[in-house]
Amino acid sequence: MYNKKSMKAEEFINHEEVLRTLDYAEKNKNNLELIDKILNKARPVRNGKQVHCEGLSHEEASILLACDDKSVIDKIYKLAEEIKKAFYGNRIVIFAPLYLSNYCINGCVYCPYHAKNTHIPRKKLTQEEVKAEVIALQDMGHKRLAIESGEDPVNNPIEYILECIKTIYSIKHKNGAIRRVNVNIAATTVENYRKLKDAGIGTYILFQETYHKESYEKLHPTGPKHNYAYHTEAMDRAMEGGIDDVGLGVLFGLERYKYEFAALLMHAEHLEAVHGVGPHTISVPRVKKADDIDPNAFDNGIDDETFTKIVALTRIAVPYTGIIISTRETEQVREKLLKLGVSQVSGASRTSVGGYTQEERPTDTEQFNVSDQRTLDEVVKWLMEQGHIPSFCTACYREGRTGDRFMSLCKTGQIQNCCHPNALITLKEFLEDYATAKTKKVGEALIEKEINNVPNEKVREILMGNLKEIENGSRDFRF
Ligand code: SAM
Repeated sequence: MYNKKSMKAEEFINHEEVLRTLDYAEKNKNNLELIDKILNKARPVRNGKQVHCEGLSHEEASILLACDDKSVIDKIYKLAEEIKKAFYGNRIVIFAPLYLSNYCINGCVYCPYHAKNTHIPRKKLTQEEVKAEVIALQDMGHKRLAIESGEDPVNNPIEYILECIKTIYSIKHKNGAIRRVNVNIAATTVENYRKLKDAGIGTYILFQETYHKESYEKLHPTGPKHNYAYHTEAMDRAMEGGIDDVGLGVLFGLERYKYEFAALLMHAEHLEAVHGVGPHTISVPRVKKADDIDPNAFDNGIDDETFTKIVALTRIAVPYTGIIISTRETEQVREKLLKLGVSQVSGASRTSVGGYTQEERPTDTEQFNVSDQRTLDEVVKWLMEQGHIPSFCTACYREGRTGDRFMSLCKTGQIQNCCHPNALITLKEFLEDYATAKTKKVGEALIEKEINNVPNEKVREILMGNLKEIENGSRDFRF
């Protein structure tokens, strides 16, 4: 039985409910009257300074996904853009993944780190190597990391992950600092989530890969990850352990996208219903070529157009949730999706263990091929030229604005007096410390222009003072 408040995976991601939803969506995909009603419901409503968005249920969003009508799709894109602007403005947060270890005892058939891959070199960073990687990342200008690791209780126990987090936060090289460490490690216990929370992590990220239980079990034939319920219920344990920013994700290509999309939204609805706060982020990775992995071996690959529609509808359905696009995607795809709802991108990523300290991009321990291989400076410049403000901001989490407190910032329209100046402050730091002359020039002009978009005069004054002080050598201001 479907029950979004249940704590059992098969009840809150209920297979029959997904199938019912898809059937209903198929039957109503040309019901333009209903579709218009759904689009209207999703529109931002302004009340003075406040903007509110209702979002959509998994059923409503699935109807829009099923609809192939060109004019409806155009309306979806327009609305996604409008919502993106209302809540996120033109800021794009930047991060990089840091691979700690590729030792893994799981059998995930799409991942080259699977246990049966005997020819891939296995590597686990020592604390000295973590330090070197972090210095390399700081020297590019990164302030936010997502740490990644295979699952191996002997080689990568929680103590190892915690030690790495401590090392990462401790390194202050030149003006550099990693101010937020997000964690993407396998599903674990409430006790371990509590330890991660105490270590000061930002978001706990875990991709569901697929919500379809039968496929999930086939795609994860061996190892602890085989347990669908344990994996699917991980976010509830993370929240029970005190982590209130969690990041969901589906690995598109493994199962039928319509199934995944409905179930992903059901997962978000479940978190909201049980914990009072939805997912902080949603990631939308697509299966990529990797060492012994051929993405064409999976039947459910989606083209760029379908992918775009999924991202736009995610923006509309869960307006308060950030959307993350990684370097799995090309510059061209990223460019298009940024407008339609993406709020975070990775930049200059290396998906190999120890990759950032190598002169040449190493491919022997890469988790997947990186499509966007530009430097961070290039990504920052490109974002600005597209009209976005690259942001290295980590203020919310450091000011304790996590979970529903962050959401209330969104909902009360204070983003423009808070996130906007913070983005400019952290961009200014990047320009002063790491940018090439060309990027700096583009950035200075952008900051000059964007200062005027801070509504509150007092905030604007403080911001201008902070920017001046950054030029004089001070760092780490925040609202
Ligand atoms: N081992 C942890 C786990 O199982 O959740 C950490 C995550 S893993 C390092 C990061 C993510 O990369 C996986 O959750 C999966 O979705 C994705 N991934 C694995 N193989 C991939 C491939 N061939 N192409 C694209 N993404 C892939």
